[in-house]
Amino acid sequence: MSMDPVEKEELLTRIHELEEQAKELDQKSYNLFILYHASKALGSMLDEEELLQLTVDMTTEVMGVEWGAIYLVNEDTGFLELRKVKGLESRETPPIALKLGEGFPLWMNEKSEILSFQAVPPEALFFNAFPEIKLLEPHQPSIVVPLFHKVRFLGFLILSHRLDGQSFSTNDFELLTTITSLSATALMNAHLYELAIRDGTTKLFVARYFRRRLQEEVKRSKRYNKPLSLIMMDIDDFKKVNDLHGHLQGDHTLAQISAIIRSCSREDVDIPCRYGGEEFALLLPETDLNGAYLVAERIRSKVESARFASSQIYVTISAGVAVYPDDAEIDEALVEKADFALYESKKSGKNKVSVHKKSNLKGLANKS
Ligand code: GH3
Ligand code: MG
Ligand code: MG
Repeated sequence: MSMDPVEKEELLTRIHELEEQAKELDQKSYNLFILYHASKALGSMLDEEELLQLTVDMTTEVMGVEWGAIYLVNEDTGFLELRKVKGLESRETPPIALKLGEGFPLWMNEKSEILSFQAVPPEALFFNAFPEIKLLEPHQPSIVVPLFHKVRFLGFLILSHRLDGQSFSTNDFELLTTITSLSATALMNAHLYELAIRDGTTKLFVARYFRRRLQEEVKRSKRYNKPLSLIMMDIDDFKKVNDLHGHLQGDHTLAQISAIIRSCSREDVDIPCRYGGEEFALLLPETDLNGAYLVAERIRSKVESARFASSQIYVTISAGVAVYPDDAEIDEALVEKADFALYESKKSGKNKVSVHKKSNLKGLANKS
């Protein structure tokens, strides 16, 4: 029995509608899937570098583009800097100098919506209007997504054309806007977190953060049966530096000594802190007394040979070293023992490194 042509037509239309609805639902569940994972991952991160990496990885992957790059405002200079790039060598990405509040960034800030290069009518004119961005033209940027946290312009994400040759859909734009706004919020949180845990003058961790990390590191050392060393340091006769050269030069000196301490620490492993006014603590996970002594001695000797704040100032520091578990088995006691060793250095003439128990030092000329 053959079907009535009208009925058949209606049926086909209905099937087509259902297919469209299924596609739409597919798209929606795909979007939800992506956004669920994006918000979960971005929301749990507090490290700016990791956040930028994840944002560029995720957007290039989800949009299926050849390359992506993120430019962020450097608050100190007011310039936008290339911070992460994927799919292009960073040396291929031109170091474009974009100043906040001028040219392209100003335009982006005012426009605050996704810019599609295809959608800009006379494309050549557009590039000519912003000579800095013209440098990207050979790489064929396709869209620029501004990164905003509320009304604050943080920078932008640039994506190339799609690998399948398709143009971006409205759905793509919605997805991108949501991912980048999640990312901007996470970046802002990471920035605020950094401000909360770092001291402004020295850029070292603050004492509150140090105490928390000390507890965690002691627990970790206990669990994995590893040593943990603590170096306490104090600038010698710093009051005189202030009296002689003024407080501002004193602050510069503090910042430079902190930079020396940072340069002698392992990035993302050691925990260098400003413990008090002109006192520092350096926590060294998985480091025994000999290792910590060498680090302390390197810092002491670098400070001794450096000239600070307009080359006028000479200062020295004293240090004390203690190690978990040989000297102390709990966090407060470790600080106490390192402090006591520091006191020994001060008492015996300053510009020295002392250890809590000399007998624990193996095969090193003991200077204390
Ligand atoms: P000692 O060798 O015994 O440590 O002598 P000192 O003069 O370093 O020690 P004291 O504790 O008497 O003085 C510490 C000085 O450090 C006094 C204070 O003005 C200075 N100081 C502490 N914090 C800061 C700061 O943030 N900036 C500046 N410029 N000076 C600071
Ligand atoms: Mg001092
Ligand atoms: Mg002091």
